[in-house]
Amino acid sequence: MNKEHEFQLGLADAEESEVQIRLAESADVSALYGVVENASDFAKKMRDKVIDSRTPPIACKAKCDHCCYQSVSITAPEALRIADYLIQRKSNLVRRFIYKLNTLNKKIEGKTPEQRGALNLPCAFLEKAKCQIYKVRPLLCQKHTSLNLQECIAAKPNGFPPGSITEEKAQLVTYTAVVSGYRSGLKNIYQKAFMVATS
Ligand code: SF4
Repeated sequence: MNKEHEFQLGLADAEESEVQIRLAESADVSALYGVVENASDFAKKMRDKVIDSRTPPIACKAKCDHCCYQSVSITAPEALRIADYLIQRKSNLVRRFIYKLNTLNKKIEGKTPEQRGALNLPCAFLEKAKCQIYKVRPLLCQKHTSLNLQECIAAKPNGFPPGSITEEKAQLVTYTAVVSGYRSGLKNIYQKAFMVATS
């Protein structure tokens, strides 16, 4: 096992345990939001720790929205946190985004992530080239970076096939590991809860 793989496994294990410990204590909505925020903070902290100062600057800038045309999966706690954020901002925002999500869902229903990406449809939360939920955007959106704008422009019509973008290495490695640990932690705790509830 190489050092990078070992580092990723360590991060994923630490995050998985953290989610399970936190949700074993309490699984109310604030605890659910807390695990998402913690995963986001942990990934960012670890990224900052390992980033190589010689890395070229990332190409991502405000109002650059190419990557918001690809398929992104999210977990239930992330979705609840987004809904809460919209309710806090304005109650009519929820209705507007539910409508946009439903409209988008009708177009992508039954399709694989690759087929969805190839449809080249904008995310429901993208308006005026800006993410309307940037503060609480999904963990996978936080993971994404690009070192080359031209690669994004070329990959967009094809739904960003794997390997089409040169991502910033430290961000890619840390966020991939932390998101994987976060998802495993959620899966473990809810499988256990389901078994307790049905036994
Ligand atoms: S949630 Fe925001 S950052 Fe993520 S794809 Fe949608 S608009 Fe882009």
